Amino acid sequence: MLTTNEQLKYQRQIMLKQIGEQGQLALRKAKVMIVGLGGLGHPVAMYLAAAGIGELFLADGDVVDISNLQRQVLFSADDIGENKAQRVADKLQVQNQDIDIEVIDEMLDEESADYYCSLVDIVIDCTDNISTRLLLNKQAFTHGKTLISGAATGFDGQCFVLNRHLHTDNKQTSGCYQCLIPTAQDAPALNCSTVGILGPVLGIIGAMQALLCIKVICGLSVPSQKLMVFDGMYQQWQEFNITANEQCPICR
Ligand SMILES: [Zn+2]
Repeated sequence: MLTTNEQLKYQRQIMLKQIGEQGQLALRKAKVMIVGLGGLGHPVAMYLAAAGIGELFLADGDVVDISNLQRQVLFSADDIGENKAQRVADKLQVQNQDIDIEVIDEMLDEESADYYCSLVDIVIDCTDNISTRLLLNKQAFTHGKTLISGAATGFDGQCFVLNRHLHTDNKQTSGCYQCLIPTAQDAPALNCSTVGILGPVLGIIGAMQALLCIKVICGLSVPSQKLMVFDGMYQQWQEFNITANEQCPICR
């Protein structure tokens, strides 16, 4: 049962018939890990904390730099030099005291990714590092957990959901993140530090990741194993199928 406080706090989403009390209870029960507390991780963490996700795991080994402030909107000059995951946790815990936030103040490696992916229901990839992306894809797939991956550079962004449970119908033909980018060498060399990024593009992609996460938890349909691509210059979204790579060591 929801408490009176929860009924009041979350009433605007509980009144949605697709969410309702059952959805809110599912959100309270959910364990979600956000990996990377940069420009994507901020909107994701803000919206999920506000929506009442019961347990958030925030993972980032990096510290705040002055060049982050243009887009990592929870940070201020006072946070420079502090661990990103810890500072985001401190701020969101003030905003919503009814949720639990666990800080992982290190970069995930094979062992820690394996451990934390086994603990949570959903893994949200907000990193800008292809090796970590492939590691999260592998561990999420291995543990049968939903992965919601996001990326952005310049005016463009993309989202990808790997959800092995909801879409068994296309499991045979649709691929995982590693089918798209088999090795770190296949990744485009573009990233935020080489080509730049506009803050609102990260806001759009991060908000989309948070929306997909809430929908998955509430049992609503999401496009699984498709690449959703956003073009910020023309304000357009497009969706592409990810064809399975028969040689993929993860999903084949
Ligand atoms: Zn694959």
